Amino acid sequence: MPDDDELPAAAGVWLVDLDGVVWLADRPIAGSAGAVSRLRDAGRRVVFATNNSAPTIDELLDRLSRAGIDAVADDLVTAAQAAASMLEAGSSALVCAEGGMLEALAARGVTVVTEGPADAVVVGWTRRFDFEMLATAATAVRMGARLIGTNEDPTHPTPDRLLPGSGALIAAVATAAQAAPEIAGKPHEPLVALLQRRAPDARLVVGDRPATDGLLARRLGVPFALVLSGVTAVGHGALEAVPDEEGIDLAAIVDRHLGP
Ligand SMILES: [Mg+2]
Repeated sequence: MPDDDELPAAAGVWLVDLDGVVWLADRPIAGSAGAVSRLRDAGRRVVFATNNSAPTIDELLDRLSRAGIDAVADDLVTAAQAAASMLEAGSSALVCAEGGMLEALAARGVTVVTEGPADAVVVGWTRRFDFEMLATAATAVRMGARLIGTNEDPTHPTPDRLLPGSGALIAAVATAAQAAPEIAGKPHEPLVALLQRRAPDARLVVGDRPATDGLLARRLGVPFALVLSGVTAVGHGALEAVPDEEGIDLAAIVDRHLGP
């Protein structure tokens, strides 16, 4: 571990995924808070990079706090922010997503409309997705709106089961509109560019999904540490991105770098 002998101030940033690494839905993953503390004590900055566009920044900070992790807004980079970064201030968007996406669009100066025409249709994770929303979104795309998806994750891990992810919703709109979506979140360019601005000294990506976290690491040119506490099971087969290291959870990865 070449970085670990350096002075703490030069120890760089760990990019840590949230769902499947820090928590499963509302249940914190054991040891994750202690692992983040140990990283910080050793001089690493931890930036949480999530494809979940549903919670607002305050809701994410509150969930982190309940999981035992103190954080500030600057410690979070979200697919909602990445999606908003694709739109110009003063443009309009029809939104199939939750509060986190609306917050990011408002911060960007994008006006939200409830039917087309619009400059963009933005689709993120939401439990409120029905036929009417699908029809309205597809119609707006057919009228000329760009189709932007926060991410392509097919599933959303919870303690009990895998729920449909945003990828399932964006696929429905893309199919109905016969349009190819632009994707904002991990591992795509808008979130990569955001991370390069917000956390230029990244040293490692820790995540549970090789197709997003692993490919993000490749695009940032840093190693990928796969954890088996989320969507990738122990005894998994071939993966979309071969991890540089693998551990049962975040605590195990931190143990390997800092010693148990
Ligand atoms: Mg994850």
